[in-house]
Amino acid sequence: MEVFGSSGTRGVANEELTPAFVMRVAKAAGTAWGAERVAIARDTRHTGRMLVDAATSGLASVGADVDRLGILPTPGVQAYAEREGVPAIVVTASHNPPQYNGVKLVGADGVELSVADLEGIEATLLDESFADAPWNEIGRVRDVDGVRRWYVADLLAGVDRERIADADLTVALDPGHGAGSLTSPEFFRSLGCRVVTVNAQPDGHFPGRDPEPVAENLGELGRLVRAAEADVGIAHDGDADRAIFFDENGEYVEGDATFAALAAAELGAGDTIVSAVNVSQRIVDVATEAGAELELTPIGSTNIITRIRELDADGRRVPIAGEGNGGIFFPDYRLARDGAFTAARFLELVADAPASELVAPYDGYANVRRNLEYGSTAERDAMLDAAANHAHAADAELNTRDGYRLDYGDAWVLARPSGTEPLVRIYAEARERERAETLAEELYDVLANAKA
Ligand code: MG
Repeated sequence: MEVFGSSGTRGVANEELTPAFVMRVAKAAGTAWGAERVAIARDTRHTGRMLVDAATSGLASVGADVDRLGILPTPGVQAYAEREGVPAIVVTASHNPPQYNGVKLVGADGVELSVADLEGIEATLLDESFADAPWNEIGRVRDVDGVRRWYVADLLAGVDRERIADADLTVALDPGHGAGSLTSPEFFRSLGCRVVTVNAQPDGHFPGRDPEPVAENLGELGRLVRAAEADVGIAHDGDADRAIFFDENGEYVEGDATFAALAAAELGAGDTIVSAVNVSQRIVDVATEAGAELELTPIGSTNIITRIRELDADGRRVPIAGEGNGGIFFPDYRLARDGAFTAARFLELVADAPASELVAPYDGYANVRRNLEYGSTAERDAMLDAAANHAHAADAELNTRDGYRLDYGDAWVLARPSGTEPLVRIYAEARERERAETLAEELYDVLANAKA
């Protein structure tokens, strides 16, 4: 796909992602869906309103009525789409810096579109085969009020409120000026928590921090946890489909460690957990411990969703899936990543044990990353062939869904060409740093020799 990546299309607003382009995306989606009604919402970005207006015009011009939901977390839009049975457009650049914006597309079942559906819309976009309506049949546009309140109530119905409320927790929350600023404080308060916040005023300039919830952007949250003696710190990205945590000591917790703690609580024997090929050894260990299967897909949430659906059709139970970046699915609840819901599931665990204790078994794994540049596709192919040979000769389980991943039981190493740069990336992980470094070095040497 040229236009859509696995999670929609993104770019610097008004340069790459212009109103004219977003209008064409909306016309293409409206045409391909053929829906009578489409919902549209956005995160807090400065350019969001302008792009929503463009998308609204595009949808109306192909005859779709438009429900404008205002600012709403992506998972809230997905919940609305599912409830109303209408597809939706979300104007958001998720965790990207403030100057970016983007478009995510959601089906009438509330699930992100599959690659096949996106390809259909892209084809309509590229050949501009829009189903323009006659002047007297254009769509009607209406503002729908109260969707944020409804979304919070919907979240509340999905979690064990009593268990959380009885624990009298203090939550330090950093929604990062994003869409979660307008829903998560109320949600955690409704769960009976005392809520203290930082960066919780919606602001598309993101004055307090960048939207990406990574350790270097979250220093203030750690300080707030300590100052307020909170039980846990919670941070979202710009559209609040992710949650990243701090423990009660104000220490940042790796996304992989929380994912592992949540998975350990969810998984039973015979269950399946789905993640991407760069999945942490922590998840490998949790799945093994639980007697559960671990299924790996190519990187990208669309691939994870597709696999969950296949497994579900096969009658396999997938109680949890996702990636170590804080984007986690609880498919029994909804086939959507939801930062607030994920946080509530973590609070259910924090009700019984301190956060630091919950993640302690998954602490201290060592990750090693190396990059190898290539100058031509021939060089790249020689490197990948060498990786394949090395993989076949190694005493490890090989997964070739996206690059070459070798699982050694106690550790893994992956060689994978970057999607955006002329690089082959090498990842390795083990409990011992030395083990991870040895595996990464070994594969690095193999690739470097092949390139020479
Ligand atoms: Mg996001």
